[in-house]
Amino acid sequence: MNDLYVLYRGPLASCNYDCPYCPFAKRVDPPELLRADRADLERFAGWVEATTDRRLSVLFTPWGEALTRSWYRDTIVRLSHLPHVARVAVQTNLAARTGWLAEANPQVAALWATYHPGQVTRDRFLVRCRELLSLGVRFSVGVVGLPEHHDEAVALRAALPPEVYLWINAAEGHLYSADEERRWTALDPRFGDSVRPHASLGVPCHAGENAISVLGDGTVRRCHFIKTPIGNLYDGSWRTALRPRACTNSLCDCHIGYVHLKPLGLRDVYADGLLERIPAVWPLT
Ligand code: SF4
Ligand code: SF4
Repeated sequence: MNDLYVLYRGPLASCNYDCPYCPFAKRVDPPELLRADRADLERFAGWVEATTDRRLSVLFTPWGEALTRSWYRDTIVRLSHLPHVARVAVQTNLAARTGWLAEANPQVAALWATYHPGQVTRDRFLVRCRELLSLGVRFSVGVVGLPEHHDEAVALRAALPPEVYLWINAAEGHLYSADEERRWTALDPRFGDSVRPHASLGVPCHAGENAISVLGDGTVRRCHFIKTPIGNLYDGSWRTALRPRACTNSLCDCHIGYVHLKPLGLRDVYADGLLERIPAVWPLT
């Protein structure tokens, strides 16, 4: 069956945290936007259910925090039980309780969790990680590689069991010295993928061929970073839009994009853990 990776982002853009590096910090969505987000997600879940001729892997990449909303939790549980869904994952700050995941299929549901020092204590974040471990849910944990986060990242790595992969994202606009790069790479051996943007113009990319980005209204784009629509999910036009393509942006600097850049070969590195960012071979021996 043909694989299709789907990154979904609805209108939701609110968050309970106040990270200084984020435009969505402490944003509150009005009730009508939340209603629209919920309705859009319901429609998307219906599409996933009905699209049984593809092996689907879905990653929710909300602007803000999704797991404080019941409709994302319920949808993850629901989609995780569909036989043609290989993965359903979500990017989250892990602030919300995790007990609901007991209802999900642990072979399919997964979390991409980010630790935001300053918004939550390390101990509290680790409590959530332990909950996930006891539930048997797949998850990665990561930190934005700002200099002021380094001590916390080291402590987090030390506190997590070795089988939990900890990733470090290069901070936007931050230039890393060789020494800084070495220090972050000591925590995340794959930091080199993130530390510099990838020159992508004209380079073949799976995005638009077997990976797509979907907005709440069903607009389909190749990825979150090339805004031109290539079709819509709900009129079936996405099917004819899929074909091998080269990137039209000069740079690709976000993990959820460059994992699809063909020459990087990162699908082989992550394999089934591509969307929740867990390398296939981890821990390294
Ligand atoms: S947790 Fe994520 S979405 Fe919320 S403020 Fe921090 S970076 Fe932004
Ligand atoms: S390289 Fe990045 S920006 Fe270019 S098509 Fe792929 S995901 Fe999109």
